[in-house]
Amino acid sequence: MSARLLDGIAVANQIRAEVAPAVAAFTTRVGRPPGLGIVLVGDDPASDIYVRGKVKAAAEVGIRADAERLPATISLAQLLELVERLNRSDVHDGILVQSPLPPALGDDAERRVFDLVHPDKDVDGFHPINVGRLVQNRATLVGGTPSGVIELLERSNIPIAGTRAVVIGRSDIVGKPMALLLLHRHATVTICHSRTADLPAVARDADILVAAIGRPAFVTRAFVKPGATVVDIGINRLADQSAVERLFAPGSKGRDTFARRGSVTVGDVHPEVAEVAGALTPVPGGVGPLTIAMLLKNTLRAAEQRAGWAG
Ligand code: NAP
Repeated sequence: MSARLLDGIAVANQIRAEVAPAVAAFTTRVGRPPGLGIVLVGDDPASDIYVRGKVKAAAEVGIRADAERLPATISLAQLLELVERLNRSDVHDGILVQSPLPPALGDDAERRVFDLVHPDKDVDGFHPINVGRLVQNRATLVGGTPSGVIELLERSNIPIAGTRAVVIGRSDIVGKPMALLLLHRHATVTICHSRTADLPAVARDADILVAAIGRPAFVTRAFVKPGATVVDIGINRLADQSAVERLFAPGSKGRDTFARRGSVTVGDVHPEVAEVAGALTPVPGGVGPLTIAMLLKNTLRAAEQRAGWAG
């Protein structure tokens, strides 16, 4: 058996195609496009690639995106001042501060910055008010990764209600909101983490297994009930040749990418899971594209809500 691959690129394109005309309608009615302020601190290459991708994707659907790039030497006070400025801005409906922030800003910098973003502009859904609304199932701005997973499942006709779902990972940005969204769609949800006893046995109970761990190929076939839907949120860069050779067969796409680039992006799910799962999100091309598409959708929603159009 070989798992059906859930095509995140196709679903992300669908969402973008739905967002674009709504952005055009907003722009005509309000006289300006929905606006997104993106803050990037420091020169982390991966963050730089993510921010460029977000700016380009926004432009493609007609959203104004302004990337504010700040040196890693900036003080926390200066960063907070920039967030305040974006909070006050009339032309920015959404604010996104790219994570991770440089460690020099201090351990609690992300929390302080995310807490300062106005909840109405919080397109990542990180603000405690939006998290509280999510808990109560009345959120309108939920982080792009977990809400993108739901779009991918629903648009791929994977049933959620009545299923057993297991989420491995309990981070505030992925694992917890993911579990809540599944719960609100009537799955029976278990959240696992690094202290979970006999993790493979718990995971094997799942009809829908979500891996948000950050460990390459951690979820092997021993974790997967035959026929289950497996969602791989992990994005891990593997540059070690022997690890790549252990994971990917000769002649496979993974080996080919490694030979060309010297590294390969792998998820948290081992490639062998494709032999057991009923459906599987590939990495790359699964959840990743949805994250950006949902950011665009959230920016539009924030703009409409600020204009008093949506609940
Ligand atoms: P995180 O904050 O590091 O959280 C990882 C979670 O995995 C924690 O809850 C941790 O448990 C759990 N964990 C770690 N080792 C484990 C183990 N051996 N057994 C069981 N659980 C274990 O990471 P994150 O921000 O949630 O991100 C998770 C992954 O998703 C990363 O690969 C990240 O790059 C990726 N990601 C992808 C997207 C996308 O667009 N596709 C977006 C965001 C993140 P404890 O809580 O007990 O430590």
